Amino acid sequence: MIGNEAPTPDASHILVVEDNELNMELVRDILRAYGYRVGEAFNGQACLNYLEQEIPDLILMDLQLPDVNGYTLVQKLRTDVRCQTLPIVAVTAFAMKGDREKAMNAGCTGVIMKPIDTRAFPRQVEAYLRGFSEQGPDT
Ligand code: MN
Repeated sequence: MIGNEAPTPDASHILVVEDNELNMELVRDILRAYGYRVGEAFNGQACLNYLEQEIPDLILMDLQLPDVNGYTLVQKLRTDVRCQTLPIVAVTAFAMKGDREKAMNAGCTGVIMKPIDTRAFPRQVEAYLRGFSEQGPDT
């Protein structure tokens, strides 16, 4: 094998879709501290542009974005053959009852609530990377 750096087990590639700068910074810094490679998209169009170039191992998706409805964006991503089995985890502060169900129906693999629990967050991310899903076997 050519190259000096051995791949680390945590070198998964995560795309964070988040329009709030402070939330982005927090999530990015935690993920980087755990050795993940982090891509950033600050709106829905940036997310689509990013995915044109590269498909990550997991997407963390804010559902409240300035340019698109996050639910619609997830539905759209699920129609892309490259994204059909990709873990897409909503990271969102739900305003209304039924929002979680709406996220799952849109095709999210699971939901992480904002404000994120900075201690639990890395374990949650790791679980989704290992294939954990909140989607029932019947859906
Ligand atoms: Mn937002």
